[in-house]
Amino acid sequence: MAVGVLALQGSFNEHIAALRKLGVKGVEIRKPEQLQSVVALIIPGGESTTMAKLAEYHNLFPALREFVKIGKPVWGTCAGLIFLANKATGQKTGGQELIGGLDCMVHRNFFGSQLQSFEAELLIPKIAAKEGGPPSFRGVFIRAPGILEVGPEVEVLADIPTPSNKTVHSGPSVESQEENGGSENKVIVAVKQGNLLATAFHPELTADTRWHSYFLKMISDVSEDTSSSTVSQSTE
Ligand code: GLN
Repeated sequence: MAVGVLALQGSFNEHIAALRKLGVKGVEIRKPEQLQSVVALIIPGGESTTMAKLAEYHNLFPALREFVKIGKPVWGTCAGLIFLANKATGQKTGGQELIGGLDCMVHRNFFGSQLQSFEAELLIPKIAAKEGGPPSFRGVFIRAPGILEVGPEVEVLADIPTPSNKTVHSGPSVESQEENGGSENKVIVAVKQGNLLATAFHPELTADTRWHSYFLKMISDVSEDTSSSTVSQSTE
């Protein structure tokens, strides 16, 4: 099994190294036709305007949109999350092309500039339930985006308290989805919607491989679904 990693710019080498740790081959993707050889795709962090310009230059947008549309698993981290969002707001958004598919509104630089980069302990009940390990994860946030609104199909996997100078739209949170309790003043930083996974932070920059492992399980689930539907079709 080979997992593609969009290698136009940003932290693609780190994702490939994390996949290697889990015994999976990561393949650098720079051209549309290379997507045909991979079962899934990771879009790394970096700088989303630059990434969009390079993707446009290499005529990657139609193939990337098709990849998402046909249900192949795609995980966007940080700039990759912005790329996957249906709507982006915030600094320097002007005219930037997005792949879309993820029903959310993302603020590109929600947590501020490079100087406001930080690390935070995130509660990840759903990931820990599947992957084991501690109930929290050390999230590395670099000029990180925040997810302001999500659609009904989107599952929230992690959120964190909003910095005191910011406000977010109220929406579902890890707690409210789990226990039906409210949680004000939190911003969403990790979500899943069907075949799409998105994190505002950088799991590839930590030694904890649980997000990568979780994504690999999403890939196996999709492959199982596809093969069982092929079997049921062939026996009809
Ligand atoms: N906020 C950045 C952007 O707009 C993304 C930062 C990152 O990927 N570390 O592209």
